[in-house]
Parts: sequence; structure tokens; C-alpha cells
Amino acid sequence: MSIVDIAREKALEQGIGLNEEELLQVLQIPDEQLEEIADIAHQTRLKWCGPDVSVEGIISIKTGGCPEDCHFCSQSGLFESPVRAARLNIPELVEAAKKTAKTGATEFCIVAAVKAPDENLLSQVAEAIPAILDEVDIEISLSLGTLTREQAQRLKDMGAQRYNHNLETSKSFFPNVVTTHTWEERKETLENVRAVGMEICSGGIIGMGESLEDRAEFAYQLAQIEPCEVPMNFLDPRPGTPFANYPLVPLGEALRAVAAFRLAMPSVTLRFAGGRELSLGDDGTEKGLLGGINAIIAGNYLTTLGKQIEKDVDMLGRIDLPIKAL
Ligand code: SF4
Repeated sequence: MSIVDIAREKALEQGIGLNEEELLQVLQIPDEQLEEIADIAHQTRLKWCGPDVSVEGIISIKTGGCPEDCHFCSQSGLFESPVRAARLNIPELVEAAKKTAKTGATEFCIVAAVKAPDENLLSQVAEAIPAILDEVDIEISLSLGTLTREQAQRLKDMGAQRYNHNLETSKSFFPNVVTTHTWEERKETLENVRAVGMEICSGGIIGMGESLEDRAEFAYQLAQIEPCEVPMNFLDPRPGTPFANYPLVPLGEALRAVAAFRLAMPSVTLRFAGGRELSLGDDGTEKGLLGGINAIIAGNYLTTLGKQIEKDVDMLGRIDLPIKAL
């Protein structure tokens, strides 16, 4: 059976994710079949997730100065990247959540560039969550680095619904990207998140020098942890990082990756995260949303919220996909 027929029968008809070998075939599909496989990925998303597009806003409460060495990240304190530490207070956070909700977003993710949350950060979050939920009708996600089971329980008890911790790339390729911690440590945090009943959000970055085999392995490994949401980033080579001179992911490769991730996880919320404007542009974003993606980020409140989301909302209207409501 051809990969197109396998994708149709397994992912579209039965909602079963493809295996690693099949995902590799999707990633290698010739140009003439790209449109067809992207359409199957889109039909799979429509059948198993519905037509809604989820919009999420992100706010950073601690930017820069991270002790880890993730080679793609401008927030590592170990590289010469021009991002420096900044902190936000609670009223600023509530204001950001309000503005985010006004864009149509149903999810607000609070992010901190840390290896793990310290007591200071945890108490700030403990204060922020009820303050936000008191004034804004929105789901709160957190991304605060690695967690012990006990920390995960505390965050759940504070009212966090979902926790983001990206596996970043395949287990095999991970040592080429990060040397200060392991892939297994990342996975352990996700196990702690699941154990306390928070939803898992975990994805990664395409375009860090990994092979198509690595991408297939990564999509399959993500599917095994059964996340609720998967953010897909495309490398935005930041000045000062070790990956500063890497090329952008070509559009065709990006669309194959989107299709593969959708066909690996038919019912997951697959979110376009960082780098899509650079690698895919408006045309590519539209193709991605008609090729397996069903969620977007409204932008980082601190930098780009507003302009991009207006463009996105226009585009969703044009391609007739409704924004998800709570
Ligand atoms: S742990 Fe997160 S913030 Fe720190 S360097 Fe890695 S990706 Fe960047």
C-alpha cells in the first residue's frame, strides 16, 4: 500500500497515528504528492479535532539569563544573545491576560526562562493565577522548566490546567542541541505533569540540523507521551546562539513536517509556535492551517501581540476556519 493510502486508512479513517517508518515516508514524499498528503492531514484534523482554531497568548515573566545551553535559544545566559533578564509584576500580568483574551485567545501561557522554578517564582505564580482567573475567562498554562512531582502538584493546586515542557527534538539528536541536561530529564518532567493530572503540552523545533529520520523519530516519540498539545517551532536562527547561521527550513519541508506531526497524532492540538512567519510566511501559514495545524499563538505580549493576530484573524476568516471559543 502507498503511504498516501496508509495515511488515509489509519490516521484519517481510524484516528490511529502512523508509526516511525511510515512517518519517514511522509517526510520523504515527492513534490507531486505533497498536496495530497497535506490534504489528508487536514481532513484528519477536521475529523478528529473539528474545524476550530485555538488561539493562545504567551507572556514571559522571566526573560533571559537561563543557565542552560539549548543551542537555539536566545535566553540562555551562556551565549552572547542580546536578550537580558526582565521581570513582570502581578498587575502587569493581569493586564496582559485581559489583552490576550480580547484577541480571541482561550489560552494564556505564562513562561519563565529557568532550568526549574525556585520558591520566588512559584510564589509569584501562586499569586498571579488567582488574580488572572478572578478577572479573565481564560485557561492558564505554565512553562517554568523542569518540575518535581511535588512542584507539579503545587502548580495544579494553584489552578494551572496545562504544563508546557518541550522535548525539543528526537532522543537521538538531543545531545547535538543541549548539553546541560538530558532528554530523559525532560521526559521525567512530563511524567510528573501527567501523574498529577495536568495536561501535557510538549513539542519542539524543526530545522536544527536534524535528519528526516530524526524528525520521524521525534514525531513518533511525542505521540508516545500522548500530549494534549504540541507546539511546532521552526528554527529562527537567533544572533549570538550556536545556531545563528543555520538556514531557514524550506517551505516544502515545513509542510511535510506539519503533515507528519498531524498523521502521528490525529487528535492533538497542533500549534504553530515560533518561527512560522520567517520560515513559512503568510502563504505557508495558510497552507499549514490547511495541512494539519489547528492552533496558533497570538504572539508574545511583550513584543508582537496585536499586529500578527489581526493578520491571522483575517486569514482564518478567508479560509473559513472559526476561532475556538471557551
Ligand atoms: S531551558 Fe528554556 S530558556 Fe533555558 S536555554 Fe533552554 S530553551 Fe532557553
